[in-house]
Amino acid sequence: MSINDKVPDHSTFSKNRHDRFREAEAFRFVFEQVLKRCMDEGLIGGEGFAVDASVVKADASRQKHHQNDDDDWGGGSRAINEYLDALKEDGSSIAPAKKVSQTDPMARWTAAPGGPAYYAYSTNYLVDTQAGIIVDVEATPAFRSQEIESTKTMSERVKDRLGLDTKKLIGDTAYGTAEFLGWMVNEKGIEPHVPVWDKGKRTDGTFSRSDFIFNEDNDQYICPNGKLLKRHRRNFKVPRTGVTQSNEIKYRASKLDCAACPLKEQCCPNVELRKVVRSIHESARDVARAVRQTPDYRRTRRQRKQVEMPFAHMKRILKMDRLRLRGISGARDEFILTATAQNLRRMAKYLSTGPPGICATVPI
Ligand code: SF4
Repeated sequence: MSINDKVPDHSTFSKNRHDRFREAEAFRFVFEQVLKRCMDEGLIGGEGFAVDASVVKADASRQKHHQNDDDDWGGGSRAINEYLDALKEDGSSIAPAKKVSQTDPMARWTAAPGGPAYYAYSTNYLVDTQAGIIVDVEATPAFRSQEIESTKTMSERVKDRLGLDTKKLIGDTAYGTAEFLGWMVNEKGIEPHVPVWDKGKRTDGTFSRSDFIFNEDNDQYICPNGKLLKRHRRNFKVPRTGVTQSNEIKYRASKLDCAACPLKEQCCPNVELRKVVRSIHESARDVARAVRQTPDYRRTRRQRKQVEMPFAHMKRILKMDRLRLRGISGARDEFILTATAQNLRRMAKYLSTGPPGICATVPI
């Protein structure tokens, strides 16, 4: 524009952002350009990535919930149209919610423990542990399973677009589900530095699953009394897998063994026989348990700060505790811009001092 050109109307900017240049992914392009510069400056070690999510309030009133079960949304704003399009495309990907916002229906009704509920999105970061550079960012409704899914998206995207392999993934217990560990270990060969989500531990004094030894060759458990727990205790005409809908297999002891067992009171005092449940991803869970015993795990626990600090910085310093744009695309734009700004600050900090050593935990 020259000095005499007519200044565009302010609405042109939002039209460009939401419609004209939406497909161009301009913000992601800028984010990746900054990231490539960080790589050139040696700020990305690629040894391991830490992952986490943080909830950010949506620009949606806590009082305005969608009341009608029909499709009457009273005039389609961009955020509502995005939601309806997503429902049409793949309704199953939008988990049913207790309350749906009238103004930003993709935002999730959520609450911190003991706090008031509100509509929110999550920003998910994948952070390189050497200098705390954010290598990818993804917006999701504030919903745990979507946060885990977004980690798969980010890990695959940094591999495809930047050639960065996820060798180790460091996360909190939320990322320790059996399915996610199965994806990490069996599908991608990623070393899991996450605590295993374990519900097999009993607190009533009876034997826990860890008291039973699994024999992989025979696909059987051996109980503390030396008896066998089997997947099938009779032959079926049509062979069955024994895998339940929750991707688990039940191994059963024999009624006769348990009835005559001197350890029955410590094992299954209220039922006829003992059952032990094993996830189909148990081998991946065992890998995560073994990683937990290594000295490297203690180091990566400290490195997890690399992903917690950018969130604290985002909210306290950049004041990104409430979104200004609506819809998942608005959240995506704001989160990518925020992560870009954080990476620029990090890069500026290290350009004069050179790349930091492993496990730098200095504030941004
Ligand atoms: S009660 Fe059954 S499963 Fe438990 S220790 Fe005794 S024989 Fe084994």
